[in-house]
Amino acid sequence: MTNKIVVIAEHADSQVNPVTYELIAFAKKLPQAASWAIQVLILGAEIQNLAHKIADESGLDVMGFEVPGMPVYNGELYNKVLADHLVEVRPLYVCIAHTSQGSDFAPALAIELNGACISGIEDVLSFEEGVCLARPVYGGKVTAHIRPLAATSILTIQPGFFKSDNQSDQESGSVTIRKVPIEPRRWRSMGIKQIAMDTAGVKEADVVVAAGQGIGDRDNLDLINQLASIFAKSAVAGSRIVCDLGWLAYGRQVGVTGATVSPQLYIACGISGAIQHVTGMRGAEFIVAINKDPAAAIFQVADICVVEDLTTFIPILIETYQKTKDSR
Ligand SMILES: Cc1cc2nc3c(=O)[nH]c(=O)nc-3n(C[C@H](O)[C@H](O)[C@H](O)COP(=O)(O)OP(=O)(O)OC[C@H]3O[C@@H](n4cnc5c(N)ncnc54)[C@H](O)[C@@H]3O)c2cc1C
Repeated sequence: MTNKIVVIAEHADSQVNPVTYELIAFAKKLPQAASWAIQVLILGAEIQNLAHKIADESGLDVMGFEVPGMPVYNGELYNKVLADHLVEVRPLYVCIAHTSQGSDFAPALAIELNGACISGIEDVLSFEEGVCLARPVYGGKVTAHIRPLAATSILTIQPGFFKSDNQSDQESGSVTIRKVPIEPRRWRSMGIKQIAMDTAGVKEADVVVAAGQGIGDRDNLDLINQLASIFAKSAVAGSRIVCDLGWLAYGRQVGVTGATVSPQLYIACGISGAIQHVTGMRGAEFIVAINKDPAAAIFQVADICVVEDLTTFIPILIETYQKTKDSR
């Protein structure tokens, strides 16, 4: 084992996935990060520019593996290239995004390295006995604290829980590119087709206004849209029921089977706070919940609890905002 923490960058369509910087933020939170080197690895057919971008923006050293036979993500090749490299480096931690891509190759990589695999991490806790990683279990009802003990632990990190902290004034890290001329052995990617989905920037928005079944009627989505339009860089999202009812597209569903969001502000309108929904939005910086039931579970995660009928409260809120704005 070397004193190294390794981060595996995620990218698609010649863009670094922002989750890569969240992985770096996570790696820096690990107690060993103060004295150990953090290295970023990136794999793909054309990764030179992306490797430099990450080195510039993070200040960390980046090693790129140029794999000509891999124009798009290929789990088998990821495991082959990463295992060949990491078996020599033997880092204590390998940090991977808990995305469909990361979840695809992380467990197999742990087997290749005879390491542990701890998935869906949402927090780093330090106790006297050492570092503990927190991850939700039983659909988010309970948080498990897990201490990694293996010589190498593969960690998958839930997007939205660690804020990237890139500083513009730092020195760039170094970039090393290695060419790895291998072909897929058992299968070959024929390309990735994006499903056309109306996500309307739900994951990128600073403010998410979410509608639950409590809006009562599809027409009341107008209220939600109006509320969202008050804020710059906002998006309208919904609970699963609202999407099942066809009031919103599934791309806007927040929750365990939908998107995980971490906006600056999340306004939950007529949402009960089922754990499957809360799992997708509890990473928001500030949560306002509007619900007419004072015992609604959503209030347990809310910073501001509005116990009101939303069809009364939201129009008054919008009207008050307009009046205040006009009087300025
Ligand atoms: C395997 C599985 C996966 C799931 N995945 C997801 C997921 O990803 N995302 C998700 O959201 N759900 C998911 N669910 C469904 C989840 O369990 C809940 O059923 C769902 O989140 C409830 O949606 P809701 O809060 O909109 O509706 P309800 O639970 O019906 O809540 C409506 C709320 O609105 C309030 N209300 C009613 N009228 C008003 C009013 N006029 N003004 C103010 N408040 C009012 C009520 O008090 C109530 O609290 C999943 C379930 C399963 C089993």
